[in-house]
Order: sequence, then structure tokens, then C-alpha cells
Amino acid sequence: MSLLTEPANPLPLRDYQQVAIENLRNSLRAGHRRPCLQAPTGAGKTRVAGEIFRLAREKGHRVVFTVPRIDLIDQTLRSFWRDGIGDIGVIQADHIETDWSRPVQVASVQTLQKRGYPAADLVIVDEAHTVFKFITEWVAHPEWQKVPFIGLSATPWTKGLGRIYDDLIVVATTAQMIDQGFLSDFRVFAPTHPDLTGVKVVAGDYHEGQLSDAMNKTQLVGDVVQTWQLRAEGRPTLVFAVDRAHAKALQKRFEEAGIAAGYQDAYTQKEEREQIRRNFENGRYQVVCSVATLTMGVDWDVRCISLVRPTRSRILYTQIVGRGLRTAPGKDHCIILDHSDNTLRLGFVTDIHQERLDTGDKKAAEERSTPLPKECSQCAFLMLARVRECPNCGHVRKAPISNIEPGEGQLVELKRHGRGTLPSSASEIQIMQRKIPLGSFYAQLRYFAGEHGYKPGWVQHRYSEAVGAPPPYGFRMLEPEVSCYEVHSWVKSGLRRYGKLMRRGG
Ligand SMILES: [Zn+2]
Repeated sequence: MSLLTEPANPLPLRDYQQVAIENLRNSLRAGHRRPCLQAPTGAGKTRVAGEIFRLAREKGHRVVFTVPRIDLIDQTLRSFWRDGIGDIGVIQADHIETDWSRPVQVASVQTLQKRGYPAADLVIVDEAHTVFKFITEWVAHPEWQKVPFIGLSATPWTKGLGRIYDDLIVVATTAQMIDQGFLSDFRVFAPTHPDLTGVKVVAGDYHEGQLSDAMNKTQLVGDVVQTWQLRAEGRPTLVFAVDRAHAKALQKRFEEAGIAAGYQDAYTQKEEREQIRRNFENGRYQVVCSVATLTMGVDWDVRCISLVRPTRSRILYTQIVGRGLRTAPGKDHCIILDHSDNTLRLGFVTDIHQERLDTGDKKAAEERSTPLPKECSQCAFLMLARVRECPNCGHVRKAPISNIEPGEGQLVELKRHGRGTLPSSASEIQIMQRKIPLGSFYAQLRYFAGEHGYKPGWVQHRYSEAVGAPPPYGFRMLEPEVSCYEVHSWVKSGLRRYGKLMRRGG
């Protein structure tokens, strides 16, 4: 088996990747031995890993990079090579890239389980949100206490992950990646709402069999196809169903409506997968129905997602939506047809954020700073709770504003030029003597940015600086508001202080 030619030069590091590397070094210097890096799809986690390899090599250190499944080995190798990172060996029986002399070794957890702990001065655990007993024991093993283990994940929100890893370093968030153009923007419609009465919750998510029964009803399956015809604009679409029976029922209904649809699941063989991929890319299939989320369509040009898999898991939801956020030539945004109520239940994926790893105590588990989205009664477009005029169809919501504003929220105390700390229910920021709702604060920053020709990233940056957390995704739909004296002065004082930064960013 031949993969690609060995690469020569790595891609240059992006600014935020450089910052992440610096934060990682500081974390290790501060004595952490189990830091976890959070990087959404598209943030270039392989490039960051490549830089860690380089630094380790400088010290003559040997790195082992683990992946959760054996079939991810070649995909991982290709990603490294695409980023110009080479000199990587593979620990796997009869693999062509087997070469113990190379300073970095990629291995699946299954192979290591069979062979035991390999020699390593540094271990990187990819997809760290998937917790294996083998890794947990390795990390805790007395002889490995001085060896750093670095977790990598787009969604490090697994319960108890903070008992394995001791520090969280956010390389980038999905919202930042969208703002900087590294990920595609998206628009969500919630055309139908599933009736999940009687579906039990087991281990934090819906019981799959009961969920399949609830979702695999003739009427609902028909709605999915109809909605696609109405709203998908013929875009290449991935459909995420509950289980195989449900996905097959959806595929059948699409075909009956004259829409060419493929089907793929975890059991689909490699050659057939390649054929499905080709059919999707050359337009032979308009739709591919599936249940799995981890391996398929990672780099397909997906422009619409039909989400028919209700979940309470932020990890699963974020991974599904992430399949549609790759950028591509001519792609303005991804359309998400949400038949699952996941967005109404969990918020926009860009609003899902966790400051710390979950250590199992209740406090860390849920940190929601953002009111959940509201639905336009005319077109089912989902928007931020306090937006009254639908950005999609212009319909103005009648509800009195007091009902949709967050209630008696707490304040973010703004320290002079410092970051605030955001209590989970914060809805206002105090600047001098004035208390300003966070949405209004954002809208005023937008106004200021508009007046001075600053890019959207400037607003994100100033907001995060003041509030101590990124703005909710939906805030970008807010119309600019004329800045009050207090906000104006705060920005101006920052301008003096950050003059250099501004000129670079603006
Ligand atoms: Zn509307």
C-alpha cells in the first residue's frame, strides 16, 4: 500500500496555533503533565501536533501518537503528510510505514492494548474525548508520571475527562474559526419538532431503540424529504439518522421522491465507501444517509445537513454539525435542517463552550451563558432569543421584549482593561456606573467597528476581552447600536493601550 510521497516542508503555523503552542509550553513549565488541547475541525490540530513533534525531536525525544481505531491510521498519516509533516512510523502489524527508527510513531489503541506500552518520552492522545480504560490506566501508571500526555479533541466535554487531564488549552473555538474564514458559516432551520414523549434517557442520552421508533414514522420521514426539497437548494447533503433502519427508511423515501440518495454505515466496506464518496462528489448522489458520524465525510464538500438524530450529547451534536463546516470554493454557508430540536435544546454549536474540563462535580458540568435560540414562526429560521426581526424572512416577532430578554441575570464585573469573569447566568456588563445587557454591548461594539472600518474579528476580540468569554454566535445577527458614553470611553482607552494591536487587526 502506498500513501503519498514523503513531505518536505511543513505549512507555516497560523497565529493562533503559535499561541496554542506557547500556552502548551507554559502549561508544561507550570508543572502540568496531562494538558488537553481543544481544536475544532478545521483549526489544524495535525499542524499543531506537527509542531509538538518538531520541538520533541529537538530534544531527541520520542513521541507516540495514539488514534482510537485502527482504520484511522492511514487517514491520520495522510493528514500529517498533507500538512507537510513527515518522518512518522506506524506501529501496526504489516504496515508499510513500520520503521522503529523514526522519532514519531502512530498507533491505534487496539494495537497498543495487544503489545503493551511503547517506549515514549511524550504521548499524544488523539480524539481524547473518547475515553479508553487502557489510556486511563496508562496515564495513571506510576512509571509514566513524568512523561507528558497531551490530549487532542474538538469536543473535550466528556464527563470526568478532568480526572485524566489536568489542564485545558483552547487552540480555537468554532466561532473564531468561522469569523476568521477557516470554517464555513451556517444557517439553521427547525422545520419540524419531534415528539419524544416516552423516550427514556439512558446514560445521558436518549434510548436508541425508543428514539428510532419515535423518529422512524412515515409522517416524519416524509417531512424530512419535503423539507429538503423546499429548503436545501439542491445542495450536497448528509442526512444523520438514529439507527440503520431509520437511515435506510430515509434513503428509500428520498429515492421514491426522485432524489438520488446513498447509504453508508460503520459496516460499509472500504471500496464501497470510496464509490459513495465519488458519487457524492460528482453529483450522482444528492444525499447520503448515515448513522455514523466519526469517520465519514470528514473532508467531503457537504453544504447541507439534515439532522434527524435527536441527542442530548453536545459532543455528538457538535461532531455532526462539524461535518458541514468545511470551507469550499463558492460555499457561502451550510444549511442545517434540524428535525431533532438539538439546536433548540443545546444552542448553536458556536455557543457550546466549557471553560474547564469536567471533573465530575456538578458545577463544572453545565456552563451555559447564552439563552437558547428562538424560532421564527413564519420560516422556522433559528435566531438569537433577543432578535425580534427574522434575518431570513423579515417577520417581526410580536412577543414583548421583556419576555425574551434573559431574566434577572448576574453582572459581569468589568475590571479596568482586564477580563471579566462570566457567571453562568450573566446577562449584563457594568462599565463605570452603567449596566449594559451583553447583547447591547456587542451591538455597540459593532457600531464602533462600523464607524472605524474594523473587521468583525475586532468586535469578537473586544467583547471577549471585556466579558471573559466569546460572544454567543447569535449576537452577530444584532443590528449595530449607537455606542453610549461608557462603552465609547472604554473602547477609546483600549485603543490607546492596544494601539499597535488595533492597527494590525484593523
Ligand atoms: Zn423568518
